[in-house]
Amino acid sequence: METRQRALKPRICDQSVCQKGCGLLLSGHSMDTTKKHSCVEPLRAVKRALEERGAGLEHASRMARLRWNRAEQSLVAQVATLQNEAQLAALTYQQRLQRYLLHISSIVEQITGYCKNQSDSSTAADMQSHTSDHSTLKQLQVSRPF
Ligand SMILES: [Zn+2]
Repeated sequence: METRQRALKPRICDQSVCQKGCGLLLSGHSMDTTKKHSCVEPLRAVKRALEERGAGLEHASRMARLRWNRAEQSLVAQVATLQNEAQLAALTYQQRLQRYLLHISSIVEQITGYCKNQSDSSTAADMQSHTSDHSTLKQLQVSRPF
């Protein structure tokens, strides 16, 4: 701990804060350094550094905006493509559905026609079945008398 404090101490002692207005750190705190120091030059350097940083940030933000615009355009294009695809798919399915409906109505017509034919010939079939029923009953009675 002590060695570390000794190592740090001279550095802290070498620097002092300018009291004339700029508030910057000055290396060496003798009266000579303080007298020679003029706030204008270091403040100009700080201003230049800040301007450079500002320009860098402005450039970065311009690039980010460009990237964002490009991404937005690509997303808008993707959405448009998807909408077109969805519309096409909807049309295709609508056509398929109409074909299915036509097919179903033709099946219904066929079934209706079949049922009509069946009901027309049902009276004859009924009579036939009745007679056959009677004959089987008679046959049963004959084969198994009580
Ligand atoms: Zn100063």
